[in-house]
Amino acid sequence: MDAEVDVASDDKVDEPDLHTQSASNGRDVTGRFFVPQTGSINSAIITLLKARSRRTLPSTPAFNALHSGTPTMIVDVHTHLPTHRNTVPDSDRTSEEMMRSGDEVSMTNSIADYLCAMEPVDKTFAFGIAPRPWGSEREIIDGSGDLTDGGKNHNDVAAELHKASPDKVIPFMSLHPMDPGMNDEYDRAVGDLGCKGIKLGPNYQDFDPVGEAAFKLYARLEADGLPIVFHQGTSPMRDAPLRYAQPLVMDQVAIAFPELRIVMAHLGHPWQDDCMAVVRKHPNVWADVSAQFYRPWSFWNGMRVFHEWGATQKILFASDWPVTVPQDNIDGLRNLSKFAKDHHLPGIPEDEIEEIINRDALDVLGVE
Ligand SMILES: [Zn+2]
Repeated sequence: MDAEVDVASDDKVDEPDLHTQSASNGRDVTGRFFVPQTGSINSAIITLLKARSRRTLPSTPAFNALHSGTPTMIVDVHTHLPTHRNTVPDSDRTSEEMMRSGDEVSMTNSIADYLCAMEPVDKTFAFGIAPRPWGSEREIIDGSGDLTDGGKNHNDVAAELHKASPDKVIPFMSLHPMDPGMNDEYDRAVGDLGCKGIKLGPNYQDFDPVGEAAFKLYARLEADGLPIVFHQGTSPMRDAPLRYAQPLVMDQVAIAFPELRIVMAHLGHPWQDDCMAVVRKHPNVWADVSAQFYRPWSFWNGMRVFHEWGATQKILFASDWPVTVPQDNIDGLRNLSKFAKDHHLPGIPEDEIEEIINRDALDVLGVE
């Protein structure tokens, strides 16, 4: 069961039905495969599928060299943290079924699970979400495991994950703007742990993203040139206020902090229109495409809106692991043209899709 999150997707490789295979687990996986369009893509796909059927994934540069002749870089700007240093004991396993609308997501995972899932990408941003300082005992989103033993927090775990794969994993901190110790933890996370940016989930953390405390934090981040990945859009957590994650709210942040680099997660789902309206007007605001492919109608709609408004160049690649794995997002993006064709809908140009997958988010966000 180790590395289940990743390996489970490999089991589907031999199934011929490209857009509705769902019998075994009820999952709507329209985005899982993509369709050969040209000879070079065709051979790349065959290589990919052969590799996947051997239960290993090709390295990204090799895949892209096959695909375009030019090695490029894939950056996953949205990954959560594993919970366990080694294989998760059965007694610790937890899962969740609302985030993927009935599909099970493992909330307890090892460092090896994480790195296995990240095989297809070259760089990752890894982060937890700082808990509410007023005594929420449970972890937010992240399950808990031995990586936080000994009083370590999510920022320590991000740093430990970086040490496990220093060339790939880029640690991000998470802070709570209303935590009295926030500035000390900021210093420690950036100075001692080497964090290169921050993840905030105002709805999960229950703080006002345009409130005074948050603005003080943004001012510091802007001055230090550190980017923010914001959770945006809905979530199934009952006590997470939706109004704190409505994409239009980010407009006010971006107006107040024009140099602050912001990533709006999940294309702001299901408010992709609002997310697009914000990212297209602000040069330093971007959207990430994580966790979209398994709701194919919503995904296609959002991507069409971005395309029609000339905003797909503001989309960054991401997975939201462990909710999804990067390979499924790559396949899902490349499957959009087949989805459109099958349903007699206008497509999204393949070059725009490839640019999203290969966009250098480190350069875009100023992350070294
Ligand atoms: Zn997330």
